[in-house]
Amino acid sequence: MTKVAFIGLGHMGGPMAANLVKAGHEVTGFDVAPPALEAAKANGVSIAASGADAAKSAEVVITMLVSGAQVLDVYPALLEAASPDTLFIDSSTIDVDSARKARELAVNAGHRGMDAPVSGGVMGAEAGSLTFMVGADASDFEQARPLLEVMGKKVVHCGDSGAGQAAKICNNMILGISMIAVSEAFVLGEKLGLSNQALFDVSSTASGQCWALTTNCPVPGPVPGSPANRDYQPGFAGSLMAKDLGLALEALQSTGTDAKLGTMAADIYRHFADEGGAGLDFSGIIKTIRENSGAK
Ligand code: NAD
Repeated sequence: MTKVAFIGLGHMGGPMAANLVKAGHEVTGFDVAPPALEAAKANGVSIAASGADAAKSAEVVITMLVSGAQVLDVYPALLEAASPDTLFIDSSTIDVDSARKARELAVNAGHRGMDAPVSGGVMGAEAGSLTFMVGADASDFEQARPLLEVMGKKVVHCGDSGAGQAAKICNNMILGISMIAVSEAFVLGEKLGLSNQALFDVSSTASGQCWALTTNCPVPGPVPGSPANRDYQPGFAGSLMAKDLGLALEALQSTGTDAKLGTMAADIYRHFADEGGAGLDFSGIIKTIRENSGAK
């Protein structure tokens, strides 16, 4: 049994904390939103009066917040309250520089720190089947692994501090670009008189095969479980894809990486999110491509 402080009990953090409780860990949580606290309490999480209050008796502190600014904002109080040598795990999706800064703050305060962002969405968080991408020292990784394995089905040690966030944004840049590519191909096929099913039958077993096509297919029909079959209800929301590609774009610029498609994908999803797609699954980008192509 590990004493865990869980800060940020939202869509992802709530079910992740609940899975730690189910596995027998003692979880004390905090969130600034009262409904998140109530849901966590119903799932067996002890509620603290503040983040610092939750951290003071914890062996491990997990944060699951939205942005790098939020993480760096809450860290000082948490670090000050925690006992020496507490392990800080940040599972938020944030920029690499903020992740490294958070770890540095933890180490300078006499603690240990790591980035461990996730993929798998809310369903993965509920099912305990997330993938964790971890940037950490080897010994810290080994200490965190049993806890992460409660919340996830796959835990990958990607390298030192920041490497987990680097893996997350690189993966999601592939995903964003490939969804646009698949959607453009379907719209072109439609305009050429090709049925969606025929294109799917060919590409799903040919060299165009990819997750955006075979699991999250942007047209209804070929993959019955894909969000296209339920009017693009997420799934993985356009707002989150826009956020992750924004982080990728920052990283492309700061490293001077020549990534024309990643840059365009960030621009395309920013417009998609701003113009009504924020709450739709990111595969809804096909509707924009159709509209821009003068198709129905
Ligand atoms: P969310 O907005 O539902 O949860 C964030 C929670 O943090 C909220 O409940 C908010 O009240 C709380 N919070 C904000 N400031 C706080 C503070 N100072 N102290 C305590 N609590 C505070 O977001 P989410 O969907 O759970 O996503 C969390 C992170 O996981 C994000 O970085 C997101 O990019 C990433 N992520 C989300 C998904 C997804 O499908 N939702 C998938 C993979 C990764």
